[in-house]
Amino acid sequence: MTPPTCPACPTRPPLWKDTSTTAPGAADHWHWHCVGCRTLYEPTASHKVRFTYAPLRR
Ligand SMILES: [Zn+2]
Repeated sequence: MTPPTCPACPTRPPLWKDTSTTAPGAADHWHWHCVGCRTLYEPTASHKVRFTYAPLRR
């Protein structure tokens, strides 16, 4: 799956999944983080479904 790109940066870098605020039992609490402008983006509902469960569990 391809992560979304940053809408603010001219180079449109892919966003990183920032799970630094994720605690056990709160697996859906994470943000998109741009390494270019260091902005946190709230994931959409569909992003949460697709990116919360697929990459973290085998
Ligand atoms: Zn950015």
